[in-house]
Amino acid sequence: MNQDSRRIRLIMDLRNSGVTDTAVLSAMERTPRELFVEESFLDQAWANRALPISCGQTISQPLIVGQMTQALELTDRHKVLEIGTGSGYQAAVLSRLCRRVYTVERHQDLLAVAEKRFTDLSLHNITTQAGDGWKGWPRQAPFDRILVTAAAPVVPQDLVAQLTDDCGIMILPVGDAAALDQMVVRVTKTDGRLDSEQLFPVRFVPLVEGAPSNP
Ligand code: SAH
Repeated sequence: MNQDSRRIRLIMDLRNSGVTDTAVLSAMERTPRELFVEESFLDQAWANRALPISCGQTISQPLIVGQMTQALELTDRHKVLEIGTGSGYQAAVLSRLCRRVYTVERHQDLLAVAEKRFTDLSLHNITTQAGDGWKGWPRQAPFDRILVTAAAPVVPQDLVAQLTDDCGIMILPVGDAAALDQMVVRVTKTDGRLDSEQLFPVRFVPLVEGAPSNP
């Protein structure tokens, strides 16, 4: 089967699994996942599975990318913060659905490769920073939406503080990275009032605390 048929099949699988937002499906269909995976996994680029990338990290499973992106309820006016750039795939999908993406990654090596992919794909509305995602990006706050793509044992309070008061939504996996019991949580902030709701179980790499490992 060629990449085109694999891509079409994956998008159909995502729709059948509950990713019904056509803008999200279209953004994923137009984002060439084969450019975000390691060469040795090229044949699995459009398989519905997470794949290893360098620095011991992973590019998330397409179904999880679809579900988390859909849960953000994005519009083209939104300013979005992503924590955990990794391969850059999730940021590329977000960039097609919102006004601007700010993405933070603690591994400088991963960030450099992701930045090159954004340039090659002419995704000019993504701004990157090497740093500790636990702290968010205070100078650019507030954000309409925040997406965390690594699991934290608790909801990082700095991120909550950087979410807009005006119907802000944050989507993040919460739980012990080693214990296999993480849940994607949706935190909403309206006029300063916080609500949180558990969405579905997942398995993410941990949101590590501290400075970038190789600044
Ligand atoms: N969104 C990515 C998948 C990310 S995997 C993609 O689409 O490919 C999680 C990423 O979070 C890893 O790259 C990891 O290095 C990063 N990460 C973990 N803890 C972090 C922290 N405190 N600050 C910033 N990035 C972090």
